[in-house]
Amino acid sequence: MASTSETPHSAAVRLGCTVDQVGYCARCHGYCHRYGKGGNPLCQSCRKDVQAK
Ligand SMILES: [Zn+2]
Repeated sequence: MASTSETPHSAAVRLGCTVDQVGYCARCHGYCHRYGKGGNPLCQSCRKDVQAK
């Protein structure tokens, strides 16, 4: 798990989703908008990484 003091609530604010939609990225295990509409099992930076390959 990524070393971060971020809480699910602050992650939700950063990600622009609700706390309910916050989950852990399947790749880096940081917080991401994982559930619900627009959710993805990967965080934004991992998605970029995967798409770059
Ligand atoms: Zn990630």
